[in-house]
Amino acid sequence: MKFRPNRIFLSPPHMGGHELNYVHKAFEDNYIAPAGPNLEGFERELCEITGASYALAVSSGTAAIHLALMVLGVQSGDEVICSSFTFIASVNPVLYQGATPVFVDSEPDTWNMSPDFLEQAIQDRMRKGKKPKAIILVHLYGMPAKLLELLEIARQYEIPVIEDAAEALGSTYKKQPAGRFGTIGIYSFNGNKIITTSGGGALISENQEYINRAHFLATQAKDPAPYYLHSEVGYNYRLSNISAGIGRGQLEVLEKRVKQRRENFQLYCDAFQKLEAISFLKEPAGHFSNRWLTTILIDSATVSPEQIRQHLETCDIESRPLWKPMHLQPVFKGLPYYGEKVSESLFEKGLCLPSGSNLSEEDLVRVVKEVKKVFA
Ligand SMILES: *Cc1c(COP(=O)(O)O)cnc(C)c1O
Repeated sequence: MKFRPNRIFLSPPHMGGHELNYVHKAFEDNYIAPAGPNLEGFERELCEITGASYALAVSSGTAAIHLALMVLGVQSGDEVICSSFTFIASVNPVLYQGATPVFVDSEPDTWNMSPDFLEQAIQDRMRKGKKPKAIILVHLYGMPAKLLELLEIARQYEIPVIEDAAEALGSTYKKQPAGRFGTIGIYSFNGNKIITTSGGGALISENQEYINRAHFLATQAKDPAPYYLHSEVGYNYRLSNISAGIGRGQLEVLEKRVKQRRENFQLYCDAFQKLEAISFLKEPAGHFSNRWLTTILIDSATVSPEQIRQHLETCDIESRPLWKPMHLQPVFKGLPYYGEKVSESLFEKGLCLPSGSNLSEEDLVRVVKEVKKVFA
């Protein structure tokens, strides 16, 4: 039996069919460990799909960002530039390192980091005596950021980029996969992402030394010796061979999942075309989004996103406000912020609609009907 059969979830897992074959193989081989053929296979196949040269599968996207920061030498007292409009997992690892996040606002075309505010932030931090040690940029809801402009600024100031593509596996920018542009790219395979390993993440890079270093840190920082010898602090961040088996089955269907999510988006666009109060985020030229979540903005004097969310909830339909910007989070109070009110206004006006690749036509029609009722 399905968990809560009538509920329409925001973004539930969607198995492809071959996952159990890989998991069975792990049981047969007794590779019930954070090592084994599925793990190696998953990393190899992730490289094939993204075109990356090196990949490391780890226990979460958060762990992947933490490792990326360590590999780039971010430490206590450093500053790291972060998108303000994101999920908190993009930023928490900066604090794990004892470093300080510096928040940058969004631009309205992709909702991601604004190149103008990025440059303003870098210049002001340098004037205040500290050059940022890294930039973490995000492709929110699957929409690639303005990479050309952002990377040009990063290059000019010689600051390495961590590309948080946790929500953007399958998205491309100028035909190249999101995640491939930064010094290090990261993905998440949490249960609600476009594909899942039940929980997991990965780093990719063109720099083999970075991936080797991340592997060393993710497996307790064991020095080469016949006994356990450690001269650095390490972590236990590797993905299990069981989870990697699920991931291999999921990678087989990634392309289908992107197609299905994009079709959801299109259906919502068509259904709400006549409702002027609802608008959608368009793809700028060269940006191809996996449409992980379909997001809408509500511009109405009478209907708020929260009213819609509450009405949908009474119909057993899950929806969710957009991410509350990081510079407004109590845990990050008082930290530097560069921007205006772009992300704040998105947060106030926005809502994420059910976007799973396994939604039926009937489910989608039910969501559309209930949203329209709030406006009627
Ligand atoms: C999900 C997510 C993460 C973290 O991934 P986990 O696997 O849940 O740790 C990081 N950044 C963004 C933008 C995310 O959406």
